Amino acid sequence: AIFLKSTETGDKIKWKAGEAVPYGALAAAFAEIEATTKRLVILEILTKLFVTVIERSPDNFLRVIYLCINRLCPDYEGLELGIGEGLLLKAIAQGTGRDMKVIKKDLEAKGDLGLVAIGSRAKQPTMFKPAPLTVPAVFKQLKEIADMSGNKSQDRKIGGIKKLLAASQNDEPKYIIRSLEGKLRIGLAERTVLVALAQSIVLTGAKKQKKRLDTEEMANEIARGTEVVKAVYSELPNYDLVVPALLESGIDGCRAACKLTPGIPLKPMLAKPTKAITEVLDRFEGKAFTCEYKYDGERAQVHFFATTPSTAPKTKLAVFSRNSENMSLKYPDLVEQVPRCIKPDVKSFVLDAEVTAWKKEEKDDKGEIHPARLLPFQELSRRKRKDVKAEDIVVKVKLFAFDLLYLNGEPLLHLDLEARRKLLREHFQPVPNEFDFATSQDCTTVEEIQTFLDISVKEGCEGLMVKMLAGEDATYEPSRRSMNWLKLKKDYLSGTGDSLDLVVIGGYYGKGKRTNVYGAFLLACYDADSETYQAVCKIGTGFSEADLDAHWSTFKPLELSSKKGYYDVGEAKPDVFYEPKVVWEVLTADLSLSPVYTAAKGLVDSRGISLRFPRFIRIRDDKDPDDSTSPEQIASMYRAQATTNKSGGKGEAED
Ligand code: ATP
Repeated sequence: AIFLKSTETGDKIKWKAGEAVPYGALAAAFAEIEATTKRLVILEILTKLFVTVIERSPDNFLRVIYLCINRLCPDYEGLELGIGEGLLLKAIAQGTGRDMKVIKKDLEAKGDLGLVAIGSRAKQPTMFKPAPLTVPAVFKQLKEIADMSGNKSQDRKIGGIKKLLAASQNDEPKYIIRSLEGKLRIGLAERTVLVALAQSIVLTGAKKQKKRLDTEEMANEIARGTEVVKAVYSELPNYDLVVPALLESGIDGCRAACKLTPGIPLKPMLAKPTKAITEVLDRFEGKAFTCEYKYDGERAQVHFFATTPSTAPKTKLAVFSRNSENMSLKYPDLVEQVPRCIKPDVKSFVLDAEVTAWKKEEKDDKGEIHPARLLPFQELSRRKRKDVKAEDIVVKVKLFAFDLLYLNGEPLLHLDLEARRKLLREHFQPVPNEFDFATSQDCTTVEEIQTFLDISVKEGCEGLMVKMLAGEDATYEPSRRSMNWLKLKKDYLSGTGDSLDLVVIGGYYGKGKRTNVYGAFLLACYDADSETYQAVCKIGTGFSEADLDAHWSTFKPLELSSKKGYYDVGEAKPDVFYEPKVVWEVLTADLSLSPVYTAAKGLVDSRGISLRFPRFIRIRDDKDPDDSTSPEQIASMYRAQATTNKSGGKGEAED
C-alpha cells in the first residue's frame, strides 16, 4: 500500500502488527486522498488503510476513524476542535522560532495555515530526528488541547500545539494544524468514511472466516454491509459504540447490538420546502397524509431513560437540540414539566417535538380574559443557552410533540407515522400550558389544506408540515431531508421563497453614520464535499442601529488577519474576514446567476448563484456553520424558481 511510504521522502514507514499506528501512515493516506478528486479512488485508499489498521492495530481503529472525520468524540459531548487562527499563528511562530510578522506574510501568500506550518518546520534546524508520532499520541494531545479551559488555557493550548509540532515530520504538520483548525480539507466526506468502514469490516471478516467469495458475491456483501452500517449509524450516531461492535461481531452482530438508545441523540428527520399547496397534492395525491402545525420554536428531542446501576435505577431526562447539543441546562423548566405528561406505564422514550414560548390565559385589570397563546420564536431566543436558573425565567415554554421514536425499550423508527402517532397519543397526556400533541388534520383537498394553513398562521405558527402517514414511505428517516415531509410556510406562498441559513464570513466597514460598525456582511453557504464556504451575497439591509452595535461586538473578536484557505469567495472583496462561527437566517427576493459569487458554481451554470435583496431574519444559534444551507439546496431553489417564474433568474446579482 502506498500509504506505507512517506509521500515527502519516499521512506518506508515502519509499522509492525501490534504496534501503534504511525501518524505518518495516516498523513501519507491523507496526502494521497488530497491529490485526487475521484471518489472511488479515495474510497479505495481509505479502505486499504482501514484494513491494514484492523489487521495490525485494531485497538487504534476507533481513533483512526475519529482523526479521518476530524472529531474527538460523539457530537453531543460537545468537545470540538476549531482553534482560532490567532492562537495557531502564535503556536507556529513560537514553536518554529519564526517571527510573527513573517508568518503572517507567509499566510497571506499561501492562504493555508497547514502549508505555513510545513514551511516553518522545514526552515527550522533540527539537531536530531524526533521519535515518530503515533495515532494514539496525536489523538490524546488533540483531545487535551480541546479540553483545556479556564485559567491560562490559551497559553496551555499553545504549549500543547508546540509539542505536537516539535514531534512532527514531513507533511505531518500540515494535517495536525488543519485538524486543530477544524477543517482537514482533503475532500473526505464523512459518508465516504462510513462506506470505507463497512467495506473494511466485510473484507477483513471474510478473510478471517476464510470465506471464498467470487467478485459478485463480494460486491453484494459489501453493498449490504454498507447499507447496514449507514442505517446503524443514523440510529446510533456514536462511533465509540458502533466501531467496537463491528470489530467484535461483524456487520450482522453490530446490527443486532446497536439500536437507537435513549441518551444518544439521533440526527432529526428534516423536511423539503414546497412553494405551493398544489405541489403538496402532486406529491401525496392518492396517499394517506397528514398536515400538522409547524410551530415556530426550537426543535427538541426529549430522551427519558433509566440510568445504571440497574439495581436501583434512576430516571434521567435529557433535551437535545436539532444539532444534538444537550439543552437540558437551557430548559430546566421543560425538564421539570415533561414527567407530568407521561402515563404511568412509560419507562423510557424518545420524543421528537418543538419547544415554544407560551403565554398562559390572563385576566387584565378590566377583568377581560386573554386566552393562552403561542409567542413568536424571538421570545425563546432571548434565553441564555446554558445555566438558566428557574427564578430567571420570564417566558414559559410549552412542548408540542409530533413524533415518538422509542418507547419502553423498543425503537419505533421502522413503524409508519400512523402507528407511531397512535402510540404517542396512548402513552402521553396533554397538560395545560405545558404539553400537547401537535395539532393535526388529515386533509385531502387544496381548500382543506388552505383553510388549515390559515388557521395555523392565525394561531402563531409558521405554517404546516405535511407528512406521509401510512406505509413504508412513512417511516422515520433520521438525518434525511425527506420528500415524505414537506414544509409549507406562509412566507413561501407570498412569493418570497424559503429562507436560507448562511454563515457570516466577512464584513465591510460602515460608511457615513455607520463608520464605527460594520455596515454590511459577506455570507456563505457550506459545501461539505469540498469543506469550503462559498460566498453567496453581501447583506446590508434589515439591521437596526442596535443590531449593528451587537454585530460589531460579536464579529470584532472573530476578525482574521487574512482569508481562510477554505473560503471560496470569487470576486467578493470584504474589508475583513471572520472565523466561521455565526449562522444567520436570511430571506431573499430571488436567486440569480452571478459572475461575482461562487455558491453552487458549476451546479446549474459555470457562474455561481447569488441572492438578490437579501434580508436578515434572525441569528440561528441552533445551527453550526457546517449545517448551513448547501450549494445543492441553493441550486434546487434556483431551479424551482426558474420553473415557477418562467423568465428564470432575472439578470445578474450585483456586488
Ligand atoms: P426551518 O428554518 O424551516 O426550521 P430547518 O432546516 O431547521 O428549517 P426543516 O426540516 O426545514 O428544518 O423544518 C422543520 C423544522 O420545523 C423542524 O426542525 C422543527 O424544528 C420545526 N417543526 C415545527 N413543527 C413541526 C412539526 N409538526 N413537525 C416537524 N417539525 C416541526
